[in-house]
Amino acid sequence: MTAVRSPSPQPAASGAEPTRVDVVIVGGGFGGMYAVYKFRELGMSLQAFEAGGDLGGVWYWNRYPGARVDLPSIDYSYSFSREIEQEWTWSEQFAAQPELLRYIDFVATRLDLRRHYRFNTRINQAVWDEARQLWQVTTESGEVYEAPYCIMATGPLSVPKKPEIDGLERFQGRLLHAARWPHEPVDFTGKRVGVIGTGSTGIQIVQEVGRQAGELFVFQRTPSFTMPMRNVPLEPAYMAEVKRHYAGIREVARNSPIGGARPQSTRAFFTVTPAQRQELLEDAWKHGGLAMLGTFGDLMINEEANEHVAEFVRGKIDDVVQDPDTARRLKPQGYPIFARRPCLDTGYYETFNLPNVHLMDCLTDPIVEATEKGLRTASGETELDILILATGYDGLTGALLAFDVQGRDGQTVQDKWKDGPRSHLGIMLAGFPNLFMTTGPNGPAALANIIRMSENDVDWIAQAILHLRANGLGSIEPSIDTEDRWMDLVHALAKPSLINKAKTWWVGANVEGKPRGLTQFVGGFMKYREHCAAAAANGYAGHVLQPAREQVREKAA
Ligand code: NAP
Repeated sequence: MTAVRSPSPQPAASGAEPTRVDVVIVGGGFGGMYAVYKFRELGMSLQAFEAGGDLGGVWYWNRYPGARVDLPSIDYSYSFSREIEQEWTWSEQFAAQPELLRYIDFVATRLDLRRHYRFNTRINQAVWDEARQLWQVTTESGEVYEAPYCIMATGPLSVPKKPEIDGLERFQGRLLHAARWPHEPVDFTGKRVGVIGTGSTGIQIVQEVGRQAGELFVFQRTPSFTMPMRNVPLEPAYMAEVKRHYAGIREVARNSPIGGARPQSTRAFFTVTPAQRQELLEDAWKHGGLAMLGTFGDLMINEEANEHVAEFVRGKIDDVVQDPDTARRLKPQGYPIFARRPCLDTGYYETFNLPNVHLMDCLTDPIVEATEKGLRTASGETELDILILATGYDGLTGALLAFDVQGRDGQTVQDKWKDGPRSHLGIMLAGFPNLFMTTGPNGPAALANIIRMSENDVDWIAQAILHLRANGLGSIEPSIDTEDRWMDLVHALAKPSLINKAKTWWVGANVEGKPRGLTQFVGGFMKYREHCAAAAANGYAGHVLQPAREQVREKAA
């Protein structure tokens, strides 16, 4: 779900009576869908909103060629329904976008979720009414909804970042953004195509479009490390086995650092001999997926160990790419491996051996502007029929900051987060009673399985709301002290992490003017769950709980 920034606070009411529900949910991705199901099952009235034309979140918008999940499909799926687990069968280890959208459709249809949504509807504003203990939520067209509880399931990667390239409006060819891809197939045959960006998205596009386009020009600023995905079809016998063991698979995932069943060694890099290290890395490379990340326990805190692994991957680029100059330019330098999101590919480096694929090194020859005919770099103009922007997102905070959210005393989220996002658990904000986020910015959002996390966060929110209702309470929010202690922990854990050493959306460095810093919980998903459980213990000690005002109790009755 994306929303637009309101230029100035709008009047909340548009003339018509506000529609009253128990819960407002913003977003139709995995988090929003599960929230709708959960609160409906709890017997609450609700209204959900989605800016897109249907459910699916990033998988609704990102239909670019090659779009594919980089966690195993078996992990990247809901665990809350045994029926869905048993009735749905994944066809590939890493599902492609069309299959993910089919899964989302299957879940939505099976659970009858769509009737709770208003699609093509953006939220402009959400304002807390302290006297009435409810959120007043206004759509772009001025309709007003009121609810005691408001859930922002707006996603960590839903607002495409401005590409910061002059003259894009002048370009007379076809301009496409990976995050707003058309629903109809795009024909690249015989076309001169440019791709800007070589993060996870750009890599997936390049390896696909390189085989189709007449000429492909890859405008690369920072090279990424990418490793073989080694995707395979999932055989019926294997899927049957998975279905028999889903409960155990989920248990492992919930108790793992990334929320997925992946081996993670605790061995330190320098505790084994160079020959053993090489063997372990070769095995992981052959295994594919994120196996490399799990080979040693200290890769994100030991710079020397990290550099050995980085050099191993650089060696693999030399093995594949035939032109030594292209190989050199494709090799990431100057930041630790895994400090940017590790990418998984299927023949990405091989693509650069095709005669029609050209690497444009924007570190030595930067993009100056878009022109009517294509892109101008310092050394000259490249004419293009199609230009694809794979330039990333205003991640983690962009969605909530895109509209006007006012908590107690008119405090805005923009104001609260002017020096970077602050929250408790990435779920609640001091000063914003009964406002909840799923996969928010101070949790492990970018570093763990978003579906496991969404389920965890929605369950936590539901438990908190049930606590309020069972105890005659009207609102909950973390105390400032609780929020401060959480942020201290987040910062303390982040400090030694090598993630800080790369300029990425993880640290806010990809968007001009954005506060910089690693504000994600890097302690692992299982530890995050422990903190969530501890926060709910002892009647939500550490939170400010206000008694319900009379009229709220009457309405809820
Ligand atoms: P990204 O990782 O932020 O990469 C954006 C790319 O665009 C970078 O290479 C960046 O270069 C380049 N760029 C941006 N502005 C530019 C400019 N003005 N000139 C030249 N280059 C420019 O974004 P992403 O690839 O969309 O990935 C974002 C996240 O989405 C990933 O980290 C991942 O979490 C998720 N994702 C997941 C999958 C999957 O599951 N398989 C697929 C796609 C995305 P610089 O680095 O130099 O700024």
